[in-house]
Amino acid sequence: EMNKETLGFQTEAKQLLHLMIHSLYSNREIFLRELISNASDAIDKLRFAALADESLLEGQGDYRVQVDVDPEAKTISIDDNGIGMNRDEVIEHLGTIAKSGTAAFLQNLSGDQKKDSQLIGQFGVGFYSAFIVANRVEVHTRKAGDDAGAGVLWESHGESEFSVEQRDKVGRGTRVTLYLKEGCEEFADDYRVRSVIKKYSDHISVPVMMLESEPPAAEPEEGAEPAAPQYKAVNEATALWTRSRTEVSDDEYKAFYRHVSHDFDDPLTWSHNRVEGKLEYTSLLYLPKRAPFDLWNRDMARGLKLYVQRTFIMDEAEQFLPMYLRFIKGVVDSNDLPLNVSREILQRDGQVESMRSALTKRALDMLDKLSRQEGDDYAEFWKQFGEVLKEGPAEDFANREKIAKLLRFATTHTDTPVQDQSLEDYVSRMGENQDKIYYVVAENFNTAKNSPHLEVFRKKGIEVLLLSDRIDEWLMGHLQEFDGKPLQDVARGNLELGEESEEEKAEREQLAKQSEGLVERLAKVLESSVAEVRASGRLTDSPACLVVGEQDMGAQMRRIMEAAGQ
Ligand code: ADP
Ligand code: MG
Repeated sequence: EMNKETLGFQTEAKQLLHLMIHSLYSNREIFLRELISNASDAIDKLRFAALADESLLEGQGDYRVQVDVDPEAKTISIDDNGIGMNRDEVIEHLGTIAKSGTAAFLQNLSGDQKKDSQLIGQFGVGFYSAFIVANRVEVHTRKAGDDAGAGVLWESHGESEFSVEQRDKVGRGTRVTLYLKEGCEEFADDYRVRSVIKKYSDHISVPVMMLESEPPAAEPEEGAEPAAPQYKAVNEATALWTRSRTEVSDDEYKAFYRHVSHDFDDPLTWSHNRVEGKLEYTSLLYLPKRAPFDLWNRDMARGLKLYVQRTFIMDEAEQFLPMYLRFIKGVVDSNDLPLNVSREILQRDGQVESMRSALTKRALDMLDKLSRQEGDDYAEFWKQFGEVLKEGPAEDFANREKIAKLLRFATTHTDTPVQDQSLEDYVSRMGENQDKIYYVVAENFNTAKNSPHLEVFRKKGIEVLLLSDRIDEWLMGHLQEFDGKPLQDVARGNLELGEESEEEKAEREQLAKQSEGLVERLAKVLESSVAEVRASGRLTDSPACLVVGEQDMGAQMRRIMEAAGQ
């Protein structure tokens, strides 16, 4: 055919396709969730575009997704009347992967099926999941507003290439048809498909319709036309967050989480709230169980799904939560923002600022609640996201006390690398005369634990936080105090460990006298390397240690600066 063009998949797309088919076979029903999710996204996009240009609806504003199965032909098709795609868009969206961090993601794959399926899940399986169950996929689509003649047929066997050609399409939107593989015929079975749709798509706000399976109960009268079967919604079709908390089951919350996050796992916890009054909005925040592969990638996708009066506006609205809570997923639906709100407007809107501060509190409260629950969930959260939360006090000064309560540390109290002690725990164990919270920072846990600076603390039974994450010194610099107690680096300046007894004082003075000569000689020898040599009571076993001046940069900070070539 003249207009038929055969094109190769982008390398990354090919790799992902291949991996997906192999790693996700045991999870294969999720292809339906992905395709329905795309159909629902396409309808959301049209709904949004039609706000500005109603003619796009072509007089047909009843949005729906239609699923048809044909057990004989072994096909299933998912049809939407959403925004559709033109030829260029088809080639771009169904032939490449545009996501940032794709290369890093592919590198992270290990060949271990279980681990990889997890990662692919977090990456977002998407359209290509169709090839888990199909050996041939056809997409017939036409962009809303274009002529029937602008219809496009895309086709692929899921190997290295696909074809596109012109094919008239009267109705706008997209129909995806899957020719099922051997062993996947179950997805041409009406009953099976209904149950998968119920499981994954109940919370989607557009109706997902299937042909009525039961024939009408009454026998048609003699001579009358038999009633034609009708399409009926299989899912609940109300946006989940608009329902009241008591009406939504945990399973529904979990299913909705998988929809917004593309995660395979359940969330650790969630928080669903409706706010009324000066500002009106609904939020549903989720805490994932596992860190995404790109948590440390500066331009990782983050933020909430934004709706205005139940109309989808954008994904990844970053303005509603601070950077240090970038792992939170969910939805915010505002009653007050204008429907034509853009990212630029969001950035300098006063309402958004108020919502951000309220949502930040909600998220911190959700973490606080989790930290007070029995079980390992908070420890799991801390392992995955603790280092990110440590960015909090620097970024969000106003909430630093709230954040400080959520932090967990390794300390000399337990002497293990597990970060499971809170500052509240520490304070509750402080001695009567202790007025500071002590910490030591080192490159790794063992160095921290064996630091000569700790000798005197161990001797006196004073607990010290053992810090060894890259961000710890930065964190301490911004935290400064907790519960009115200053945080003190044991490697800095003079240490006063509570009241000194007469005996200790005498011992110290005698020691100073004895060492006068030695101190003088050392000061001379080390003249060019140190600012001062002092006899000290802080060591019990080691002969000497380096101390940083109170105002100087910490040792860890200095290493970071050096590494950065400063
Ligand atoms: P994602 O949905 O995360 O963007 P997918 O792989 O599921 O990734 O889909 C890739 C892209 O293909 C979508 O972003 C969209 O632009 C396009 N697309 C897929 N399905 C449809 C559809 N039914 N209607 C319109 N566009 C679609
Ligand atoms: Mg998708």
